[in-house]
Amino acid sequence: MSKLFSFVAVVGLFAAIVHAQEPAADDKAAKVEKKEAAADEKAVEDPEKVDWSQVDWKKRLTKLQYYITREAGTERPFRNEFWDFFKPGEYRCVGCGAPLFESDAKFDSECGWPSFDKTIAKDSVTEHVDLKMLQPRTEIRCRRCEAHLGHVFNDGPTDTGLRYCLNSAAMKFVSEKQLKKELDKMKKPEAGEASSEKAEEKPAATVESEAEKP
Ligand SMILES: [Zn+2]
Repeated sequence: MSKLFSFVAVVGLFAAIVHAQEPAADDKAAKVEKKEAAADEKAVEDPEKVDWSQVDWKKRLTKLQYYITREAGTERPFRNEFWDFFKPGEYRCVGCGAPLFESDAKFDSECGWPSFDKTIAKDSVTEHVDLKMLQPRTEIRCRRCEAHLGHVFNDGPTDTGLRYCLNSAAMKFVSEKQLKKELDKMKKPEAGEASSEKAEEKPAATVESEAEKP
């Protein structure tokens, strides 16, 4: 019995040491990430107060994201992140984090790009005439930061009749689980450690960085 007890005690002690080390490693990583994101911190705190026309997009985005969203580029079909991705959640602008589409609106258009039949809200995107091809197309951009997202066509198979054809690199995916966490944090802002206004803002940043790896 005493042997069993000491075994349990040793295991418990070991687990406690491992557990104690984990947060330290996380803290370090978080600090590095925080430094890198320092320039964007304001943007995360209140995106509506940011002058998005003044953002240094080359610093904020990867090369591909920059090419797509700031140079109106197009990714290759079937060679992008979300064309055949159908998990429940929400798609947000990779530039400013504005919600754009819900997974419920996503359908397989067999075109090799992620396609949706409606936006998450009426004013989440703006439409612009695009004359780059022989036939004029309707380009869509993020309402908030003007990121080029893709195009919208009138040949959608659902009752909206619309097909929003997106570039994966213009979006970040936030899973249903992450959305629930965000909601819970909003409902109970004092939960957890000593809360300050800044601590309440942190979850949004976490979700954003997690969303880069769907
Ligand atoms: Zn945006």
